Amino acid sequence: MVPTSRRDFLRQTGTCAAHLGLAAAVLPPGLARRWTAPAVGRIVAAEPFGRLEAVADGVWALISTPLGGDFTTVANGGIVAGSSGVLVIEGLMQPAGATWLAEQARTLTGRWPTHAVLTHYHADHVNGLAGYSAGGPAPKVLATTATRDQARDKNLPAEPARLTRLADVVVLDPAAATQVDLGGRTVRIEPLTGHTASDVVVTLADPAVLFAGDLIWNGMFPNYVDAAPIQLAQTVRSLRAGPDRLVIPGHGPVAKAADVDRYLAVLQAVEQAARQAHARGQPAAEAGAAFALPASLGEWTLFTKQFMPTAFQAWYRELAR
Ligand SMILES: [Zn+2]
Repeated sequence: MVPTSRRDFLRQTGTCAAHLGLAAAVLPPGLARRWTAPAVGRIVAAEPFGRLEAVADGVWALISTPLGGDFTTVANGGIVAGSSGVLVIEGLMQPAGATWLAEQARTLTGRWPTHAVLTHYHADHVNGLAGYSAGGPAPKVLATTATRDQARDKNLPAEPARLTRLADVVVLDPAAATQVDLGGRTVRIEPLTGHTASDVVVTLADPAVLFAGDLIWNGMFPNYVDAAPIQLAQTVRSLRAGPDRLVIPGHGPVAKAADVDRYLAVLQAVEQAARQAHARGQPAAEAGAAFALPASLGEWTLFTKQFMPTAFQAWYRELAR
């Protein structure tokens, strides 16, 4: 069951979710199946809306699979367990999705989540937040001020329960990394920008895992609606230059270094085409509509005709500065 109507979904105009909502309606089943494919970790739970993969000792990735039309979670997320605390990543799309993830955490670790991190304000990463308070004690919610305020002001529908949880947010320093000690395991939350004006990533040193939020997508063309494309590419390159690690993208299956390289090549192909179109004075919408990624970059799910023009518009905003 999908608790939100398609119309409600499409009202999330500033979010990844709007594109995904359209996608589920238009994607042929074959393509949806292909995209939901291979698991990197061992699958410990599977639902129509997503699967939970064990990617390291005490670390699980939620890989959402919304293309079948179930929007319970939509964005990817995760669980990181220490001996005294359990941190979950993302508030997800629906409270039912967050409650499900918290129940999985309790089953796998014996503990309800003690911390929840929001990587950025988009509805599919935040709107289910209240679900973490159903069935267990409310975890401490960690987010930047910008994420908290934009999630409160822009994301529809404005459920009172989500807003209450946002009011309790523990504000992350926007200029320095925050360390969270979970007992025998320290999680690092690093503020960055590019996908939105305020993104964070969650990293583990050992095992080396990066929860990238929507700064990194895999096999699925990224949403540029709030993107600053030059900064985005720079941020992704800096993440790629770090230690070799398993990457949990914001959308799409678990990624390795080669997948991040392919994603960087996608960003670069869009940049090149957008710069050329801008230089010859072609309107962004027209140039975006006419552009297709080279086949050499493999398959990248495009959700709507609007998707590529949005990327070009983001580039034109950048180039007009
Ligand atoms: Zn996003």
